[in-house]
Amino acid sequence: MKSEVLPSAARLLHQYALCDSCLGRLFRKQLTEGSNAEKGRLLRTQLHQKQHTPAKECWLCEGLTEEIAHFVDLIMQAMEDYEFDTFLIGSKIDEDIQEKEQRLWEQEHLQDAEPLKMQINREIGKILEPRLGKTVDIPNPDIMAVIDTVYDQVALQIGSLFIYGRYKKYQRGIPQTKWPCQICQGKGCKRCNYTGKLYETTVEELIAKKALEMTQGTDESFHGSGREDIDARMLGSGRPFILEVKSPKKRTIDLALLEKETNISSKSLIEISQLRFSTREEIARIKAAEFQKTYRVIIEASAPLNKEKLIKVAQSLQGQLIKQLTPTRVAHRRANKIRERRIYNCTIESVEGIIASITLETESGTYIKEFVSGDENKTQPNLSELIGIPCKVKELDVIDVKGE
Ligand SMILES: [Zn+2]
Ligand SMILES: [Zn+2]
Repeated sequence: MKSEVLPSAARLLHQYALCDSCLGRLFRKQLTEGSNAEKGRLLRTQLHQKQHTPAKECWLCEGLTEEIAHFVDLIMQAMEDYEFDTFLIGSKIDEDIQEKEQRLWEQEHLQDAEPLKMQINREIGKILEPRLGKTVDIPNPDIMAVIDTVYDQVALQIGSLFIYGRYKKYQRGIPQTKWPCQICQGKGCKRCNYTGKLYETTVEELIAKKALEMTQGTDESFHGSGREDIDARMLGSGRPFILEVKSPKKRTIDLALLEKETNISSKSLIEISQLRFSTREEIARIKAAEFQKTYRVIIEASAPLNKEKLIKVAQSLQGQLIKQLTPTRVAHRRANKIRERRIYNCTIESVEGIIASITLETESGTYIKEFVSGDENKTQPNLSELIGIPCKVKELDVIDVKGE
């Protein structure tokens, strides 16, 4: 024990009535053994002080250090309905107490003292860990309980649950994510038939419905690895996504069952597969990943097409780099700039009159409709120009998303 500890403790005890726990906590770093209360008792013995201050009469904590068991009960009650593996405890303490505590630190230059708040959090956590059979996780808890020690109230912060999967979209005209009515901003008006929505349903809502039921979550966010046009289908192996369920009560849900029920309830508008649990970190990965896409494109020309000519053009496009100035249809929300994208493969599947079916493999982010039409020559080279007949996309499907 350092020489200054005892005189400092003596001065404090002469001025203030302190419980053992509060006394020990002020010298937590200087004394190595035991709990704060044990450290306090040791100091008192060394100072030959016989009288002991009960926590209720403690000038500093006003009895808080003896209320731990009570706080533990309150927190357990509040957490009862939630499933979790890891947790963290926080607390709110009367400001008067915190000010008094700081006054003592300054008076005796106690730089290493432990704040009362930390002792309370730590002691609650220590009792809860074995009782719940769960672990304290500081950076990333499933659930955080903050006890307000003045009002005996517990506030819970529930970590989101993340579910990864891939979706296919079989029907055109369904947007990927929720799209609020632009007139009422989602409040509901005559124009949107009081639904607040611009589209009847979305991939997001079809996927989230059963997940929210099974987890009893309050809300969700949908994170897709890119998105297809509203009028394009999404086929093949499907597009990666992560569904974030907010404030879930259940976490150990049966994902095979969720997959099955979602696919039944979405009535072949969409289909999901490969569900597994994920993390917030993975969202960034699937959002940033540049997956190569394969499209089936049905084009419509303004004059009959020549199959040989089309096949020749298709061959010349293998590995071709194209330059696309921001398309007219997205120019209002994106900066005007030139994008370079590669066409990996272009195969003519069938030609009949003015209609042709083409399989296109391109780099992530290629504007397909503009590559076909030329978009007033904003895309160079483009299919219309190469075959010498203006054409446009009639139907567009994503048939594969590679790279997972
Ligand atoms: Zn105390
Ligand atoms: Zn509306």
